[in-house]
Amino acid sequence: MNAKIRLYVEHPLGPGQSVPLTREHAHYLFGVMRLSVGGRVALFNGQDGEWVAEVVEAGKRDGVLSCAEQTKPLQLPPDLWLLFAPIKKARTDFIVEKAAEMGASRIMPVQTEFTNSERIRQDRLQAHAVEAAEQCGGMFVPEVTDLQRLDRLLAAWPENRQLMFCDEAEAGAALRLAGNEKGQPWAILIGPEGGFSESERKRLSALPYAHVVSLGPRILRADTAAVAAMTVWQQALGDWS
Ligand code: SAM
Repeated sequence: MNAKIRLYVEHPLGPGQSVPLTREHAHYLFGVMRLSVGGRVALFNGQDGEWVAEVVEAGKRDGVLSCAEQTKPLQLPPDLWLLFAPIKKARTDFIVEKAAEMGASRIMPVQTEFTNSERIRQDRLQAHAVEAAEQCGGMFVPEVTDLQRLDRLLAAWPENRQLMFCDEAEAGAALRLAGNEKGQPWAILIGPEGGFSESERKRLSALPYAHVVSLGPRILRADTAAVAAMTVWQQALGDWS
């Protein structure tokens, strides 16, 4: 029993469970997608796996779904944070969307010395992460945190979390991820268009949990670098293998 439309809901899912719709979801299902009573929708909430639900009430501004059966068990992403310095709006949106698709468990915009933007629209970025999870078949929506200063984040860093520090100054050096155990908490750090300052580079390289990493011989744009870094991490230490 499959459904083409997938929605992330903040509501428990289980056999026979009723799920009241938000105004936005009701508008989308009944106004945009033209679903009516009896229509089917796939639901996930980050906790209960994926369920097929049937429309039992359809209004203009509200409605109710009823869970029929579980179609996939819960599969959580690896414990991988993506830290990145926000860049231009469309490229920042791209990074958030791709991070959710690639299986980041948390997306954290950080302000480095050369970061251009001082503000982000956290709610808009969170909505992009929800949309990406809905369309890629993921069962989890990574939290997008508010912009925070990298130095403050490092001052309170959990010591068991490894940090893959993607440093453009290392471009062309060998990738050093092999030899690490799978299943450990990690974070990836991508710098802004201007790269990292010398003092940041010095501080980051000296951290006991930091792994300075090259992403090949060419300097990648930050959005490309974010996807490339998540790809090599997923392949070496994540849920790709
Ligand atoms: N302005 C910098 C320069 O010219 O050297 C380039 C910064 S790059 C556009 C943005 C970020 O992507 C970097 O801070 C780094 O985190 C990552 N990055 C890009 N290419 C990389 C590479 N070859 N190796 C490691 N990290 C890279």
